[in-house]
Amino acid sequence: MKSNQSITQTKVLIVGAGPAGLGVALALKQAGVTEQLIVDAREVGAAFRAWPRSMSLLTPSFFSNSFGLTDLNSIDPNTSPADFLHTQHPKGQGYADYLDAIVGHFELPVRTGVSVTALKKEISHFCVETSQGPIYADHVVWAVGQFFHPRDREFPGAHHALHSSKVEDWAELEGDAFTVIGGYESGIDAALNLVQNGKSVRLISRGEPWASNHPDPSRSLSPRTFDRLRELLKSPEKAQRLEFTKNTSIKNIEAGEGFWVLRDQDDVPIATKTRPILANGFESGLGLVSSHFDYDENNLPIFSEEADESTLTTGLFYSGPALVHRNALFCFIYKFRARFGVIAAEIARRLDLPDIEEKLEPYAKAGFMNTDLDCCSNCACAVESAAPDTPEPASFTKA
Ligand SMILES: Cc1cc2nc3c(=O)[nH]c(=O)nc-3n(C[C@H](O)[C@H](O)[C@H](O)COP(=O)(O)OP(=O)(O)OC[C@H]3O[C@@H](n4cnc5c(N)ncnc54)[C@H](O)[C@@H]3O)c2cc1C
Repeated sequence: MKSNQSITQTKVLIVGAGPAGLGVALALKQAGVTEQLIVDAREVGAAFRAWPRSMSLLTPSFFSNSFGLTDLNSIDPNTSPADFLHTQHPKGQGYADYLDAIVGHFELPVRTGVSVTALKKEISHFCVETSQGPIYADHVVWAVGQFFHPRDREFPGAHHALHSSKVEDWAELEGDAFTVIGGYESGIDAALNLVQNGKSVRLISRGEPWASNHPDPSRSLSPRTFDRLRELLKSPEKAQRLEFTKNTSIKNIEAGEGFWVLRDQDDVPIATKTRPILANGFESGLGLVSSHFDYDENNLPIFSEEADESTLTTGLFYSGPALVHRNALFCFIYKFRARFGVIAAEIARRLDLPDIEEKLEPYAKAGFMNTDLDCCSNCACAVESAAPDTPEPASFTKA
C-alpha cells in the first residue's frame, strides 16, 4: 500500500471491518496478498458494539477446530470465539473484542474513521471517495453489512416506531405495555427481553414464524430462540404477559400526543401508549454500490457464482449477509464465510500470485472455500424434524 498524505493506492481495498471484511482480509493474507487496506467508517466490529447490551449470537460457539469442525462464529480456520471468550453465545461486545484481537494478532492493516462516500470504476482501477481523501484500488471488496441500514421506512409512519437496532438496553425502556412489529429473531428477542423486565408485550407478525418448521435457520427461528421461548413460557405469570398476534401486517403508524395507532391490512386500529418497536430487519446492505449490481426478477442482487463479484463491474466483490446464490441466503457468519477463500483465490489469481491453491488449502479443508453452491440450497435434514415442538404461547389472536 502506498500513501502520500491524503492519496492512497492499494491493490485491494476492503470496505468494512466486520466479520465479512476481516475474514476476506485474512484469506487474502493467507493467499499471499501483501498489499491490501481495510477501511471502516467507525471502529472494528462496530455493529456488534452497537447491539443491545443483552443480545447474544444465536449461533453457538464451541472450540472444535482441532477436530476439523471450526467454531461456527469464527472468521478463519484457526481461531474460535468460544476459546477466546469462554462462552457459547457471545454478546455483541465480546464478539467485537474477538474481532479486535484478530486484527492485532494477524496485524491486519485497518484504518478506522474512514467513511466511503462514492465509488467509481475507471479503466483499470477504482477511485473510491472517502471522508479522509481518495483511495485508488485495483480490486474492491464491499463488506459494509446491514446493521447501520435499518428498514425503518417500510410503510407510512414506520419512522414513528423505534427500530430494534437502536435500542441500547431493553431494561431502560419506559412503560409497561409494548407492541413489537415482527415475529422473527429480533422481534422475539425484543419480546423476551421486555417480558423478562416485567413488561407486557403484544407481538405482531405477518405469518406465524414461531410455528415454522423450515430447515434453514435463515427462514425459521433458531433452536436457541425456541429454547428461550420455551423457558419463558414455563412461567404462567410471564406467559400471560406475552400475546402473539399472527397473520397481521402493519401498514401504517400514526403518532398522537402520548399514543400511537397502528393499522393492519384490514385497516383495523391497534392503539398503544408506548412507542411501537419495529423489528423488521435491515436493507440489503449494498447501499452506495447498489447500481454496480444487476438484480433478478425478485429484486435480489446477482453475484457471480465463480467469486461473488458484480456481474456489471469487474473487480468489485461482495462479502457479507446480503449474499445470495440460487435462492439460498448467506446471512449468517458460518454461511458467508464459506466464500472467503473463493474471493481471495480469485483476487490472488488476478494478481498473478503463485501457489494459491496450496496456500489456501486450510481454507478449503475447513469449509471456508466452498465452490459447491448446491450444498447451500439444500438444507433439509435427512431425518424429518420432530414437529410440532412449537411452544404454546398464552394467547393467539387473528386466525
Ligand atoms: C440482532 C442480530 C443478531 C444476529 N445474530 C447472528 C448470529 O447469531 N449468528 C450469525 O452468524 N449472524 C448473526 N447476525 C448477523 C450478523 O451479525 C451479520 O451477518 C454480520 O454482522 C455481518 O457482518 P458484516 O461484516 O457484513 O457487517 P458488519 O458487522 O455490520 O460490519 C460492517 C462494517 O462496515 C462499516 N461500514 C458501513 N458503511 C461503511 C462505509 N460507507 N464506509 C466505511 N465503512 C462502512 C460499518 O461501520 C461496520 O463496522 C445477527 C444480526 C443481528 C442484527
